[in-house]
Amino acid sequence: MNKLDFLGSKKRTHYAEGLSPRNINKEVFLMGWVHRRRDLGSLIFIDLRDVSGIIQIVFKPDNIELHNKAGRLRHEYVVAVQGKVMARDPQNVNPGMKTGEIEVLALELLLLNDSAPLPVQINENILAEENLRLQYRYLDLRRERLKNIIIRRHEIIFAMREFLVEKGFYEIETPMLMKSTPEGARDYLVPSRIHKGKFFALPQSPQIYKQLLMIAGFDKYFQIARCFRDEDLRADRQPEFTQLDIEMSFVEPEDIFSIMEQMFIYIFRKVLNMDLKTPFPRLQYREAMEKYGIDKPDLRFGLELINLTDVLRNTGFQVFSDVIKKKGSVRSLVIPGCGNYSRRQLDELVDIARHLGAPGLAHCKVDAGDLTGGIAKFLSDQEKKAILQKTSAQPDDLILLAAGSDKMVFKILAELRNHFGRVLQLYRNEEYCFVWITDFPLFEFNEEENRWETAHHMFTLPKEEHLSYFEDEGKFHKIEGLLYDLVCNGVELSSGSIRCHRLDIQKKIFSVLGFSQSELEEKFGFFLNALQYGTPPHGGIAPGIDRIVMLMSQADSIRDVIAFPKTLQAADLMTNSPDKVDDAQLAELGILLREK
Ligand code: ASP
Repeated sequence: MNKLDFLGSKKRTHYAEGLSPRNINKEVFLMGWVHRRRDLGSLIFIDLRDVSGIIQIVFKPDNIELHNKAGRLRHEYVVAVQGKVMARDPQNVNPGMKTGEIEVLALELLLLNDSAPLPVQINENILAEENLRLQYRYLDLRRERLKNIIIRRHEIIFAMREFLVEKGFYEIETPMLMKSTPEGARDYLVPSRIHKGKFFALPQSPQIYKQLLMIAGFDKYFQIARCFRDEDLRADRQPEFTQLDIEMSFVEPEDIFSIMEQMFIYIFRKVLNMDLKTPFPRLQYREAMEKYGIDKPDLRFGLELINLTDVLRNTGFQVFSDVIKKKGSVRSLVIPGCGNYSRRQLDELVDIARHLGAPGLAHCKVDAGDLTGGIAKFLSDQEKKAILQKTSAQPDDLILLAAGSDKMVFKILAELRNHFGRVLQLYRNEEYCFVWITDFPLFEFNEEENRWETAHHMFTLPKEEHLSYFEDEGKFHKIEGLLYDLVCNGVELSSGSIRCHRLDIQKKIFSVLGFSQSELEEKFGFFLNALQYGTPPHGGIAPGIDRIVMLMSQADSIRDVIAFPKTLQAADLMTNSPDKVDDAQLAELGILLREK
């Protein structure tokens, strides 16, 4: 057991990376952790780490007691060091280190705490397995990269607040314990002790509350809102996540676009010192699908889809003609310079398509002004010529063709497009291409359940010119809503809409969705009731903060941008939750478990 010192009333004078050659000869008092140590026998070097970064401390052998004490230091011991800032010998300058030109000659050392041997290392580039790091998250957060991301997250949120408050928004909290608001996911439920057998839901989003705030007259609202969705997790999802929730009264989509563009300009300038170009381009949903096969296209590169259905309408190649007869489509992607792909490389592409549920993927290549290989032999000269013309493919290009329902074809080609963007390095990671996707359809038909559902959001105002379509089920699919998504580099950053401020229209939407009168009353009675008391036209948006931080810190995993994240299995490995509770707690809630 090491003898530990108390700090007493001693005060820190500087942070590690607050020191520079300007401080040479100055006496300083630093506090932090032993990040690394090198014991050269005579000289002992310690890299002292605090929240700002690292500085080298040197212990010389002339002060034997101090030197001996430094010799007992181990990784992650907590120390306070009094010392003098010195220039490093020229041969010892470390240009890779922010404080690499200086070091602190130790004059006094306090050992404030020691540390057990670490289950995960902090000062190495080789990372321990993620689950182990999640179990010891507080140690993992000591790593520079994670620490920097969490601090960047703070800076981004702070900039959002600053900007919005300046623009006249009010930050208002809405309840965590609430009646469930449907955002299309499963609710996290909280049992009520006082009202046994009844449950609160944790908010999937503050959607209804923010609309009620507009009815209340607050005009411009925002909240850094935690949202909870009990979904099967995907790589970029967490059961609880954070949105910048925004709502404004008396607005149309362009007002929301403009305020959001200004906000992103402000944040990027402040946090990344980077200028964004605005206005962000706007792309209608249908156009996005036609060109990129997806409603969140990565616009850092071109590689647009080309529809060959018309060109191949009368083809003798049965695979294609069958699809076209069934109202499907044949679309292509021209991959520049990849005409020489090997069998194995082509098989990998087919595997990507199969993995997404397609029976296969066709290809051919451009060779001396002709199409050869793959399916070229099944095509007439005229069709080959038409394909060359329509695709503008060049010699040595690879042409990939997907055939099937539009939905399937879009899915495959969008995935392949992203794949080639990546492997052909068609973009730089530090580039940011924002785009607004607009004019989404309001409803989608769910074939499996044989019913209409909202494609995005059931509180959205339909386009005025489409209101008459509500009279004819044959036209429901044509109804477009005042819906918009903000996408950046292929990531959906936020969605929002202008809301239904009129009770009669909101009721029409609910009736398409097939709610019975009693269901409506039970689920939304309070909200429909509120709509009748002078609801102003209003709309909003909710940028996902986790995704914004990921994008602005080049993080691949959403877990890297949340201080204490859950695993893909929706568990917290550090606190071991969710966990059982004792019988007494359950009894108090009136809960009897079906299975123990
Ligand atoms: N409440 C919506 C969501 O969580 C966002 C919005 O429309 O403001 O996706």
